[in-house]
Amino acid sequence: MKYAEQLKTSKWINKKSKILKRDKYTCTNCKVNDLELHVHHLYYISGNMAWDYPENALITLCIKCHKEWHKKFKIEIRKKVWCKNAKYKPNKQEKRQKKKTKKKDKIINLAKRLGLDINLEVVQEIVNSYTYSRAHYLFKKLLESGGVEQR
Ligand SMILES: [Zn+2]
Ligand SMILES: [Zn+2]
Repeated sequence: MKYAEQLKTSKWINKKSKILKRDKYTCTNCKVNDLELHVHHLYYISGNMAWDYPENALITLCIKCHKEWHKKFKIEIRKKVWCKNAKYKPNKQEKRQKKKTKKKDKIINLAKRLGLDINLEVVQEIVNSYTYSRAHYLFKKLLESGGVEQR
């Protein structure tokens, strides 16, 4: 939908009247109330509809101030991620790291359960090079052969 068309929808008109009311039908810049009043976006969010903004992103300006503003300033365009509805998604690397940490905890717990006293460096090595079941197997072998020292 084109921007000009968005400004004709009831969704925008509702949003606009809320902002006008909040600002007491007065230009927030020059304080006049007898000129045509516009609701101005302090920033844009790429891909969002005109009404799809938090109320603190919108202000009332008279037609004069509004024109001045757009002449003087370039409106910042923010990425969609600024939208309050955007959900945080971990990237692949973070997911891998999380998985690794989980595995490490599991292996440390396993060692504890088996009564193995191994240092964290060794645990880290095991986490990096073996699967959990392989680690389980190794720990058992270690126990059978009399403990870590004899490896
Ligand atoms: Zn504007
Ligand atoms: Zn004004």
